[in-house]
This record gives sequence, C-alpha cells and structure tokens, in this order.
Amino acid sequence: MQLVFASNNKNKIKEIQQLLPATIQLLSLEDIGCYEEIPETADTIEGNAILKANYVTQKYGYDCFADDTGLEVEALNGAPGVYSARYAGEQKDSNDNMDKLLSTLYENANRNAQFKTVITLNRNGEQHLFTGIAKGTITLEKSGDKGFGYDPIFKPEDYNETFAQISIDIKNKISHRGKATQQLITFLKNHE
Ligand code: IMP
Repeated sequence: MQLVFASNNKNKIKEIQQLLPATIQLLSLEDIGCYEEIPETADTIEGNAILKANYVTQKYGYDCFADDTGLEVEALNGAPGVYSARYAGEQKDSNDNMDKLLSTLYENANRNAQFKTVITLNRNGEQHLFTGIAKGTITLEKSGDKGFGYDPIFKPEDYNETFAQISIDIKNKISHRGKATQQLITFLKNHE
C-alpha cells in the first residue's frame, strides 16, 4: 500500500518508514510530483493538518497523512498556537519568535505551555485525527543548542532541562510529535 506523507523532510519520512510494516510504502510530496506550496490558511492546528491532507487526497488521489504543530501558552490564551512558525513575522525566524514570546510573557508567573501536534490521516475514504501533547513550561531564558524552533525555551514536565538540552532520542519519546506519530503507527499496524 502506498501512503503519502505531506512533507518533503526526508529524515522525518525515513524515520517513520522504518517504524511501519514493510507492506506500507511512504511517499513524499516530491515522489508524487507535488512541488507547490500547500495552503495552511486554517485558524486551528487541526484545521491546517486537515487542509494539507485533503489537498493531497483531493488533488492527487492518494491516501495521505499530514501534520501540524503549535505551541500553546496558557497565559496567552493558547497563542502563538497555529501561528507558532510566524509569531514574530513572515521571516519565520526561531530566535525572533522566542524573543517575542519571552518579552511578551516577561515576568508572568504562569509559564505553563504545551506543544500540540495533530496528524490527519486520509485512508480508504475515511479521515482519522491523532493528537500528541507535550506539557511543560516556558523558561525565563534560552538554554541549549539542540533541536529547533522553541526548543531552547521549553522545559518539558518532569525534566530539568529544555528540549534543546535533552537528547533527541528522549525528545522523540516524550514529544508531542513523537506521541502523535506513535498513535498513527499503531493505527496503521492494526488496520493493515
Ligand atoms: P510545524 O507545523 O511542524 O511546521 O511546526 C510549526 C512551528 O512550531 C515550527 O515552525 C516551530 O516554530 C514550532 N515547533 C514545532 N515543533 C516543534 C518542536 O518540536 N520544538 C520546538 N518548536 C517546534
């Protein structure tokens, strides 16, 4: 069975392919000749994951899954959320985004936050959503140089280091994306 992952990130695709039964062949957007930018215009994380998966299924006719992720900060009523990538502007710069978040929160005592990943799977005419959440807090300053995005200012629950300080193996186990991906893999294994 062929299944498109609406992504061109070769590492992500390879990583998930290795966890799937050999009967499932993952294809990238490039593999199906989709080179255009897929619109991400919804105002929720779920909405964007659905938009991306539906775009591929409707335009290219493939079963497909797509993910979308955001950082939701409690004191900011869930912002930056679906706008996490471009919180500080269209340049989508991680340092600018972190600086804006740290200065917006300033000394706010409520630093609770969570990363949320939603994966939408379109398969055999049905749609399934898988959600992974990593709870934690926003630190007062950046620490660590691993990872990407907001990792240097996000300290996951039960850890004393930021996502940018812990090993990638541990991050993958406890992260929002790791948890949502695990649900997808379990589903695909049980519905071969
Ligand atoms: P995307 O939907 O995976 O592209 O994620 C949207 C934005 O959320 C990214 O541009 C990052 O700023 C942020 N983000 C997503 N996942 C992570 C993560 O694991 N660590 C830190 N930031 C993340």
